[in-house]
Amino acid sequence: MNEQTVAIHAGYEKDTQATMAVPIYQTTAYQFRDTTYAGDLFELKELGNIYTRLMNPTTDVFEKRFALLEEGEAGVATASGMSAIFYAIANVAEAGDNIIVAKQVYGGTTTLTAHTIKRFGIESRYFDVNNPSEIEPLIDEKTKLILFESITNPSIDVADFEQMTKIADRHSILTCVDNTVATPILCKPLTLGCDIVVHSASKYTTGQGLALGGMIVERKDIKSKIKGNPRYSHFNEPDITYHGLIYTDLELPPFTLRVRLSLLRDLGATPSPFNSWLYIQGLETLPLRMVQHSKSALEIAKFLETHPKVKSVNYAGLKSNRNYHLAQKYFPKGQSGLLSFELESLEEAQRVADSTKIFSLVVNIGDSKSIITHPASTTHQQLSPKELEEAGVPAGLIRLSVGLEDTQDLIADLREALGE
Ligand code: PLP
Repeated sequence: MNEQTVAIHAGYEKDTQATMAVPIYQTTAYQFRDTTYAGDLFELKELGNIYTRLMNPTTDVFEKRFALLEEGEAGVATASGMSAIFYAIANVAEAGDNIIVAKQVYGGTTTLTAHTIKRFGIESRYFDVNNPSEIEPLIDEKTKLILFESITNPSIDVADFEQMTKIADRHSILTCVDNTVATPILCKPLTLGCDIVVHSASKYTTGQGLALGGMIVERKDIKSKIKGNPRYSHFNEPDITYHGLIYTDLELPPFTLRVRLSLLRDLGATPSPFNSWLYIQGLETLPLRMVQHSKSALEIAKFLETHPKVKSVNYAGLKSNRNYHLAQKYFPKGQSGLLSFELESLEEAQRVADSTKIFSLVVNIGDSKSIITHPASTTHQQLSPKELEEAGVPAGLIRLSVGLEDTQDLIADLREALGE
């Protein structure tokens, strides 16, 4: 099946009611046929529904469909993008371990990695996504993950997958890519040698800013990298909380299985079935929307580039952008709807962000409705001046999430707000 067909049909087998739309299985729990069957489910001798904190038939369709779009092996949905990122880290790292993180990541990922997991004893070491050679000197035997974004938010840099995966593979370390901005439509990191993909489904997946959600997808045969690898003892030694189960001994995708059986079980950041249903509706039109978001963003980036008040524009689809060639290589269908541009000062950026009429002042991305954000006073407000600089967020930076309105109307709105 081709991508657009996968987005509409994959993962859904019509049941006896033969409903065209995927049903919302709004339930907390499931009746067991008998105690033997219940025991078999708990022992994983059979796979089936136990409790919605672990699995749900509506969420299952979302997970299967998303994993197929990413060309991965299996997916597990979470209640938010942040919980997906946290679970991806917590699935491999514990106190005393470290992870290597790109400096240019979403502000929440910076606070999670720099502060929150530090309190759990996990250290984060940072590298410049534009300079992957900084990764290798940071690696030691306690390094468990290399985490970066395919298109970074809000600095709009582009990851050099080839360089990163080469280094990671040399040291048998898992790579984890936040693919929220690109979506699986514009980029499939698992086909480029990455091991795990995480998403905020709250963005382009719903496409209309309707619900919070997240997703983790693992690549096919991730087991070959984990099995017998001393970095990943949790996958190779008996799990005492699961009758001594060894994840890499099973014929099941080990990474997402462990997120489900261990982290969803114990921490429970599970999406509601209704929200999973919303993501499924969003996926149906995702391939069409991402092409249009990208086309419109490129036109707007070209307009901003010629505006006298704009110091610089970050959009990898622009020929003048330092990542143009990487973007053509990794995102040939388009470079998504996110762009940022820099104005002279914090005050000027605030004035423009306060003046647009179609672009709404909102801290979100990936909505059909266009959004303008001033990161230094909102999403990145908690970052220190040094962290701001490292995340590529100057005070005069404005981020746009270009929606699906008429492109000329959006340009007129920006022209008026900027003032000529
Ligand atoms: N990753 C990226 C790239 C994001 O932009 C965001 C939110 O803006 C997140 C993760 C966090 O996702 P959520 O808000 O669904 O927790």
